[in-house]
Amino acid sequence: MAYAYDDQNVFARILRGEIPNKTVLESEHSLAFHDIAPHAPGHVLVIPKGPYVNFDHFCLDATPAEIVDFHRLAGQVCAFLEAQPSEGGAGYRTISNAGPHGGQEVPHYHLHILSGRPLGPMVQR
Ligand code: 5GP
Repeated sequence: MAYAYDDQNVFARILRGEIPNKTVLESEHSLAFHDIAPHAPGHVLVIPKGPYVNFDHFCLDATPAEIVDFHRLAGQVCAFLEAQPSEGGAGYRTISNAGPHGGQEVPHYHLHILSGRPLGPMVQR
């Protein structure tokens, strides 16, 4: 089954410059910006500029250049947040929600990077 991308979703509108955002970092194929309703002192969203609906769509259909670019930018966000354990940071959590069970609200692939406080159990049991 094909992935159906809604180009009116809020992150598509951010990428087109129709909605403002607080940009953290930008690269050729990706954008990182602060979440509008942060769940932690550090809460940055990393998105590809291409029209991918969710994690599996991005992993299966993005080009190698897009995939590398995305993850390099995500690593740079961890450094921006001063959260890298290897550098004395206290760590962070990455989350990607997909579909109804994942609780995804915005249908454009995004990686949440959360930091700045203990983040509790991974999921509710
Ligand atoms: P999801 O539930 O899809 O994984 O996460 C969507 C995230 O996007 C939420 O954390 C929400 O706060 C964030 N968000 C929704 N609309 C906007 C917006 O207009 N700007 C920014 N920066 N974040 C948004």
